[in-house]
Amino acid sequence: MSIKEIKQKALEEHIPIIMDDTLEVIKDILVKEQPKRILELGTATGYSSICFSNILDNNVYIDTIELDENRANEAIENIKKLGLEQHINVIQGNAVEVLPTINKKYDVFFIDAAKGKYPIFLQEAIRLSHKGSIILADNILYKGYVMSDYNKHKQRTAVNHLREYIKMVTKDKKLETKILEIGDGLAVSKLLVE
Ligand code: SAM
Repeated sequence: MSIKEIKQKALEEHIPIIMDDTLEVIKDILVKEQPKRILELGTATGYSSICFSNILDNNVYIDTIELDENRANEAIENIKKLGLEQHINVIQGNAVEVLPTINKKYDVFFIDAAKGKYPIFLQEAIRLSHKGSIILADNILYKGYVMSDYNKHKQRTAVNHLREYIKMVTKDKKLETKILEIGDGLAVSKLLVE
């Protein structure tokens, strides 16, 4: 199983995985920052965490949380087949419940699960950050709904939480944030204080 095949299978099964242009931007950030520890929320079948590990020549340790048991098991299999089990640790569970049990600091966070929970995930990511940690949130513009006036969409709860996330990261003086209009929108925040 190659990384290309993992991507292909996810696409065929309509499992949402990181978009190519978003990955390119994150690649630049990872190459520049050389993080040693990454925490990902939303593993799916492991594609993004495997990409991150490859980008860093596997000189990294990634914890990644996935709610869905089947996806988590598939990710564990994929990671094993690529010999990356020393670098990527899949935690099966609800990130809302798992995060409060973690007490380690991370250099980079990749938030890519449950849009309605982004504000909670942000608070936990800040708690697990140190000065200079980077918090990435994917799908932050959610197909354009987040920045439009259209409020009747059936996903409006998710949209409201994404708007709240943007407000939190842009108002918080401890964070320096850019909202990038690539892929489905990527928020890049850096913690400026200890
Ligand atoms: N990061 C993956 C990639 O690019 O290859 C894609 C992740 S996919 C967009 C989102 C995943 O988050 C889904 O597999 C879903 O089951 C998982 N998820 C949803 N809610 C979650 C939660 N509360 N805790 C952990 N995982 C969750």
